[in-house]
Amino acid sequence: MTTSDTADLQSRLQRTVEAVGASGLDGLLVSPGPDLRYLTGYDAIPLERLTCLVVPASGPVRIVVPALEVAAAMASPIADLGVEVVSWQETQDPYVLTGSLLPGAQRVAVDDHMWAVKVLALRDAMPTALQSPAGPVLQELRMRKSAVEVDSLLRAGEAIDAVHAQVAGFLRTGRTEREVGADIADAILAAGHERVDFVIVASGPNGASPHHELSDRILQAGDTVVVDIGGTMPDGYCSDSTRMYSLGEPPSAVRAEFEALREAQALAVAAVRPGVSCESIDAVARDHLATAGLAEFFIHRTGHGIGLETHEEPYIIEGNSRLLEPGMAFSIEPGVYRAGSHGARIEDIVVCTEDGFVTCNNRPHGLVVVE
Ligand code: ZN
Ligand code: ZN
Ligand code: ZN
Repeated sequence: MTTSDTADLQSRLQRTVEAVGASGLDGLLVSPGPDLRYLTGYDAIPLERLTCLVVPASGPVRIVVPALEVAAAMASPIADLGVEVVSWQETQDPYVLTGSLLPGAQRVAVDDHMWAVKVLALRDAMPTALQSPAGPVLQELRMRKSAVEVDSLLRAGEAIDAVHAQVAGFLRTGRTEREVGADIADAILAAGHERVDFVIVASGPNGASPHHELSDRILQAGDTVVVDIGGTMPDGYCSDSTRMYSLGEPPSAVRAEFEALREAQALAVAAVRPGVSCESIDAVARDHLATAGLAEFFIHRTGHGIGLETHEEPYIIEGNSRLLEPGMAFSIEPGVYRAGSHGARIEDIVVCTEDGFVTCNNRPHGLVVVE
């Protein structure tokens, strides 16, 4: 941990304490997962034994930890943050212990990823407390990335760009999507990711299914191939980028469609700046595809926020009137899906800045034709 990382975590915890008070909650309960990592830097393994950060509206922030996990917890930034560790022995009831840290609580929020068995056990242990999801409180913090987090997303973007730089070399007629996918997965790890999150190699008609992953389909001359890949870096931040490949020059109608998509994606990226609504970014991409007669084939939202999770707030979708602010990070990934024939998508992660945007992905956007 560098000093700036610790200061960043301290400010997140401080703002969370303020948000808990402002929202009328008595406390926030956070089990292992992205919210715990965001607040404390502690990447705890989710186990059946309860680990739970307790953020009260006032008073000390504490974390309930099984005795055998205390060493792991203390090896995390928790030790530098002044979070008090409250350990429990194997035969103790950790839920009663957690409840005792928020005596008489009327309203508590539990993190969105908490296991149902833990939510229910906490309900029993804190019978006076009405539970709600912590998402509305924590999303407001997590969707506005700090400079430290933006740096992390830029590094994740560089890593996945380095993989896309190799993809043309993996694509050959006669290979299966699965074989290509295995090479890509290796490259994702070699580029510095700690984990492969997804590898989509959607060739020919498979490209028409946006979340097709891998199959035993053999690549054929004339196929267009959607390659959408992402992983998690050692610091927890995620990458996600899509580029389009083609085995030989595609038919002119497919090429024209691709060029319209490329323009739509570039226009939507260029529209990113503070004060612009999420839905208006979606409209920029959608309206451009409509002028090319392709609106009906763009069957998903334009993008999703990204950070410690691949999909998080803010969502770039019609109906989301939220205004962009500096630090918001999200994908811009319009697509065109022709059932039974082919599909296309181009995706970059973009961060809203004080006066515009920076892109985490910087590979060329043109169709990569593999001969
Ligand atoms: Zn997706
Ligand atoms: Zn995405
Ligand atoms: Zn993607």
